[in-house]
Amino acid sequence: MVSRVIPVESFDLVIFGATGDLAKRKIFPGLFRRFLAGQMPKKSQVVGAARSSLSQKTFNDLVENSIKSFTEINFRDNDLKNFLLCLNYIQIDANGSKGWNELKTALRPKIIRAFYFSVSPSLFGSLAERLHKHEITTENSRIVLEKPFGRNLKTSKQLNAILAEHFTEEQIYRIDHYLGKETVQNLMAIRFGNMLFEPLWNAQYVDHIQITVSETVGVGGRGEYYDHSGAMRDMVQNHLMQLLCLIAMEPPARFEPDSVRDEKLKVIRALDPVAPHHIVRGQYGSGVDHPDYRTGVNNKNSKTESFVALKVNISNYRWAGVPFYLRTGKRLKARKSEIAVIFKEKPHSIFGPEAGNHQNALIIRLQPDEGITMDVTIKEPGPGGMRLIDVPLDMTFSETLGIEENAVPDAYERLIMDVIRGNQTLFMRGDEVEAAWAWTDPIINGWVDRNDVPKPYDSGSSGPQDSLTLLEREGRKWREIP
Ligand code: NAP
Repeated sequence: MVSRVIPVESFDLVIFGATGDLAKRKIFPGLFRRFLAGQMPKKSQVVGAARSSLSQKTFNDLVENSIKSFTEINFRDNDLKNFLLCLNYIQIDANGSKGWNELKTALRPKIIRAFYFSVSPSLFGSLAERLHKHEITTENSRIVLEKPFGRNLKTSKQLNAILAEHFTEEQIYRIDHYLGKETVQNLMAIRFGNMLFEPLWNAQYVDHIQITVSETVGVGGRGEYYDHSGAMRDMVQNHLMQLLCLIAMEPPARFEPDSVRDEKLKVIRALDPVAPHHIVRGQYGSGVDHPDYRTGVNNKNSKTESFVALKVNISNYRWAGVPFYLRTGKRLKARKSEIAVIFKEKPHSIFGPEAGNHQNALIIRLQPDEGITMDVTIKEPGPGGMRLIDVPLDMTFSETLGIEENAVPDAYERLIMDVIRGNQTLFMRGDEVEAAWAWTDPIINGWVDRNDVPKPYDSGSSGPQDSLTLLEREGRKWREIP
């Protein structure tokens, strides 16, 4: 099956931080794939900006290397050559005055302008101010912001206020790349495109929901940043919260940006505060090829968590009494992101107690092998009475749809095209981000007040033992991290 590609209008995209890690690993390879697919018009212009003094040739070489390293599909040299013709490099310091006039001259009138702030969030304000001061932004301009969007409610409000001085909310695209993942969008298709699930999607039929995002990697070269942040800020406040919203929200009236975002916001505002005994924090130990967390971040007294598991309740009509268990961590057993909707036991088993307990489960796999599995109870084949077993109805999207896994657009390429199209559905609105911090802040402040120290856990495990107990004491069990 070949996916349909609708070209966007030609555009001018300015990438601040064009020599950085994110630009090299995600933005340029993503743009190139859209170029190859025919979605990015050849007349588009991509302006790279950073403080480094680079010749156009050096910049083109940097982009060429990043594409060769991180684009996992075959392409012809000529295609790459044509893509490089779209590039332009301008030396600009976000805090300085040089380069802005050159940028103004380079941008074409009456063409969509997108400014991607792929730099430290401490520079967002300076960039917004300078774009405005040098009269570079037009009505047809938009800005794209990378996480983290603040580190608490206060700083996220300050940031929103600074940006609001120069841009309307319709011009601001706050990226949470989880929302650009194919399966995350499929969550909405599965829920609202099928008659089958939505009638069961509530406290009457759902026992509990598990959201797991586990990584095998450690902090790597981001030790200093990570130790200042931790799993709660780095993963839960944004990515896991967005997944929770899409699972729990009411059906929006239309698949339109504010309809969807209004419903997500209502979920966040309905979250109960989390009691300390419903949270488990952890720090990984050393492994054969890596040091423990504290050594990795070069802070022997660190109290930052590399793992967190929590039980969350949503106080609304649909979900009252249904626990949502969230967990995420580094240096775990396997790399896996999934959402598991575990349905309740049947009210009565006609097969008697010896048939055992069987609960249906819908598993939505985000990575690896994007797809869905439905655990269904059937009779175990053979003579010898009515023995029941649970078997998975398994669908891996790439297999079922005949699409090679690496041909599915990456989250970043999809989101950049949405920016150009002016579609904000998959981007976070300012009030959503603030509401998420308003819920997260008391949790983090509580740890600080109580001088909470994360529990150690073995590298390659499923996290601290206490995180398993969090469910076991309620008669439930985490799904295995394979
Ligand atoms: P990075 O590798 O440190 O790159 C930073 C970029 O900013 C470089 O191009 C740097 O180039 C430029 N820069 C620094 N100071 C500047 C200034 N004063 N004026 C203009 N340009 C300046 O960072 P990154 O990993 O690409 O991350 C960029 C943003 O994305 C950050 O907000 C990060 O939190 C976010 N993010 C990154 C990832 C990831 O996987 N990397 C994932 C999610 C979010 P010069 O030194 O030449 O100026």
